[in-house]
Amino acid sequence: MTLAPSLSKPEPMSTATLTVDLDAITANWRSLNAMTRSETGAVVKADAYGLGATRVGRALVHAGVRSFFVAVAEEGAALRQALGPAPAIYIFSGHMPGDTDMIGDLDLIPMINSLEQMIRQIEALPGHPFGLQLDTGMNRLGMEPNEWAALRDIALGQAPRLIMSHLACADEPDHPMNAQQLQTFLDMTAGINAPRSLSNTGGVLLGEDYHFEMTRPGIGLYGGLPFEHAHPVAAIEVPVIQCRTIEPGESVGYSQTFITDEPRRIATISAGYADGIIRALGPQMHAFADDVACPLAGRISMDLIGVDITALKSDPKTLDLLGPQQTIDMLADMAGTIGYEILTSLGARYARRYVGG
Ligand SMILES: *Cc1c(COP(=O)(O)O)cnc(C)c1O
Repeated sequence: MTLAPSLSKPEPMSTATLTVDLDAITANWRSLNAMTRSETGAVVKADAYGLGATRVGRALVHAGVRSFFVAVAEEGAALRQALGPAPAIYIFSGHMPGDTDMIGDLDLIPMINSLEQMIRQIEALPGHPFGLQLDTGMNRLGMEPNEWAALRDIALGQAPRLIMSHLACADEPDHPMNAQQLQTFLDMTAGINAPRSLSNTGGVLLGEDYHFEMTRPGIGLYGGLPFEHAHPVAAIEVPVIQCRTIEPGESVGYSQTFITDEPRRIATISAGYADGIIRALGPQMHAFADDVACPLAGRISMDLIGVDITALKSDPKTLDLLGPQQTIDMLADMAGTIGYEILTSLGARYARRYVGG
């Protein structure tokens, strides 16, 4: 046997690894795209829901995405630098006073939300592309029907690129709010021939009436509900730093919430609530050694978690916190939140590994 140095396996670090499957993201985009006859955009706000807008955006461009959506102009500027001049980049927050140079220089498309923003856009960047956001009942962003009625002719005279609104309850297909917002959107855009967009991931799944000319999925690309058939995208593997055996009466972690009455083997792994493994998950979540579910022992600390590995035949080198065995939506249920918040909370400390793309 030779002891050739391995080039493929890096030496173990204590940093946890967040693996992002870019092929799964593009497959999810293709599936959502195949459900409609509209153009399918991609929402990559909040750094592509925490998974990395540069890498995710480039993979989506290669898969055929031509329109991206972000929350704020700075995100649009960073995305423009990553993707080059071709894709359209829409800004949900519209045109704020400090955004003019970024919007103008980097060819971003603000979704104008108010009369005030409309005036700013026309005065500061005459002739520059923009879209319009209408409020159809969510009362978050966009022009309300009376404001829209006053502005409509001026705005339409400037040839908006896109007219959109956002659904408040799209992840609940039976919710009456969906049909109500659809009707309001139809009423507000009757007789207009600019392209329209109403649907996030949940809206795509509501059916053709909701699709219009452009859809805007986000969470479904990243493997989250309500897109049940999504490929899982993110996985977290955490190094084991130390293992020890504890005896009856001994405890693990802050505040002695775990006290054993029999000998137990405990692994300490290198991740914690600073990595988005929020404390509320402690009582229910598991760390996985392949398919063996190991319960946590004691409280989740900022940087460390105790895991009861007594069931394992040997001490593991790493344990999995996120993956096919334990998905973002399973974690979300345990913590009383949604998959979106689990993903966007993962934080900056992971060694990120991108596969595919
Ligand atoms: C975040 C967002 C989306 C994407 O929503 P998902 O539920 O993640 O698909 C679409 N449109 C707007 C206005 C948004 O804020």
